Amino acid sequence: MKTILVIEDEAELVRALSGYLEQAGYRVVSAGDGRLGLTVFRHERPDLVLLDLMLPEMDGLEVCRRLRQTSDVPIIMLTARVEEADRVVGLEIGADDYVVKPFSPREVVARVRALLRRAGGRVVAAPDVIRAGDLVLDLARHEASVAGELVKLTRTEFELLAILAAEPGRAFRRSQLIDALDADYAVSDRTVDSHVKNLRSKIEPDPRRPCYLLTVYGVGYKLAESSEGHGN
Ligand code: CA
Repeated sequence: MKTILVIEDEAELVRALSGYLEQAGYRVVSAGDGRLGLTVFRHERPDLVLLDLMLPEMDGLEVCRRLRQTSDVPIIMLTARVEEADRVVGLEIGADDYVVKPFSPREVVARVRALLRRAGGRVVAAPDVIRAGDLVLDLARHEASVAGELVKLTRTEFELLAILAAEPGRAFRRSQLIDALDADYAVSDRTVDSHVKNLRSKIEPDPRRPCYLLTVYGVGYKLAESSEGHGN
């Protein structure tokens, strides 16, 4: 059964959408604000996200941007105006489709169906697995392995690695990593450093001379591209 995540603060609308979606055979989970939406996304790994633009805590644009850092899950934006919709779909933040309020739940279900059909091919082409050299991250199972050996990571370690691995070679500032982690608790630069230290002790053949998780001096950290770092 496919799971749909509805991130919307209007309870009435969530109820209506859930009813129609469940009737159409989907499992529905929901979140009433943007920050919670990201958390629920991580826990549930839904097949599609219905994302309201105007949300408390974190607006839909930011939620979409963050989802796209680690996932190509199909996203349908719920917007109040057509002019907004033009901005949110496409290159700028990477939503796949939109519906303008007020909409009929039936119309939304039709869009969900169409988008999941389209995404079906993409899932095969780009599974929820990130590879960087010998390092493999299975996002659906929350499992990491190095050279075929499963590595036990904490949730935060895994998420940190997944953020870096989404764009190998890109240097991330500590502040960007903290933002992307979106933890429920306060994360400091030093917390990031200690997560990196722990990660290295788990995934690096020689933690003192990292070949995967590299320090970029004056910036932060990056995951090595396959061509760099390995075998040094
Ligand atoms: Ca709203």
